[in-house]
Amino acid sequence: MNGFIIIEKSNKEIKDSSLECIYLANKISDNVIGITDIKDEEILKDLPVDIFIIIDDINNIYSYRNHLRNYKKNFFLLSDTLASKKISSRISKIFNIPVISNVIDLSLKKSNFYCRASNFNNNIISDIEVNRESCIFIIKKYIINSTTIENRNTDFIYLKPENLNTSKVKVLEKREISNDVPLSEAKVVVSAGRGLKSSENWQMIEELAKLLNGATACSKPVSDLGWRPHSEHVGQTGVKISPELYIAIGISGAIQHIAGVNTSKKILVINIDAEAPFFKNADFGIIGDAFEIIPILIKYLRK
Ligand SMILES: Cc1cc2nc3c(=O)[nH]c(=O)nc-3n(C[C@H](O)[C@H](O)[C@H](O)COP(=O)(O)OP(=O)(O)OC[C@H]3O[C@@H](n4cnc5c(N)ncnc54)[C@H](O)[C@@H]3O)c2cc1C
Repeated sequence: MNGFIIIEKSNKEIKDSSLECIYLANKISDNVIGITDIKDEEILKDLPVDIFIIIDDINNIYSYRNHLRNYKKNFFLLSDTLASKKISSRISKIFNIPVISNVIDLSLKKSNFYCRASNFNNNIISDIEVNRESCIFIIKKYIINSTTIENRNTDFIYLKPENLNTSKVKVLEKREISNDVPLSEAKVVVSAGRGLKSSENWQMIEELAKLLNGATACSKPVSDLGWRPHSEHVGQTGVKISPELYIAIGISGAIQHIAGVNTSKKILVINIDAEAPFFKNADFGIIGDAFEIIPILIKYLRK
């Protein structure tokens, strides 16, 4: 059985979400194949992957279909990132196989896959048996524990596209988002809402995020007001994240906000109002004024 993974990087490092897929693939497959458009072998060589298939542009994966179809008995593990989700439909078309998203656990017994998926903002957990040879699984972030796996002799296969005219969409430019730690990859997210009163007050939010090696986020009204960029807005209509720790400062906890963050491992809420609904979803809560509490946290962390 070939376990395929799509390998993505951010800031010259392999994304944690790709690493998790590699660990999982190694657990259930004897041949792990990474498909990537990262051409730097130095970044790739220490990963526990048997074969790297290196292509020019991962978005153009459909152009490599004839080569990929040579592999039989495959399954695909894709991270829960925007890029991978886009690619999943193309892989599905190449192999004519289904996609199961929001997977939180996966195993293989005999030739059947058993997977557990979390849907509707973690409100419904389904156990699914997949009795077909091939399938694409989109794996939720931060659910697979990393393990040390021995390196092996890896083959690098460089492919040229079979047909350049398969896509009607041309990517003109790619720009990385300014956050030092990308929001969707961050293990700690420091997020703030309208309780912060104005954009100038985000200096302390940025500093706190930096001290925790995390990313900043915000509620929807904050980005609508132009205090923060839309790429930081989390929730039902924004980015959905699952960090290890989500710190919500001056955010009331409306259901539409919670929908984007309730799969975080731990939630700390800081709010002046003891009745704020967010406290019902919190693992830890501090009732108090953000303008007093955040400087104390910063002072403590600086030490
Ligand atoms: C269809 C739809 C989709 C939506 N999608 C989203 C979404 O994706 N994401 C999202 O965030 N919202 C979304 N919303 C909006 C959502 O309903 C809420 O209006 C919004 O989340 C509230 O933002 P907030 O908590 O920042 O502001 P507020 O509701 O105004 O809350 C501010 C909070 O700050 C606290 N506070 C005030 N001063 C201080 C202080 N000094 N220190 C500490 N705390 C303080 C207050 O007690 C209050 O709890 C959506 C709404 C709709 C209708």
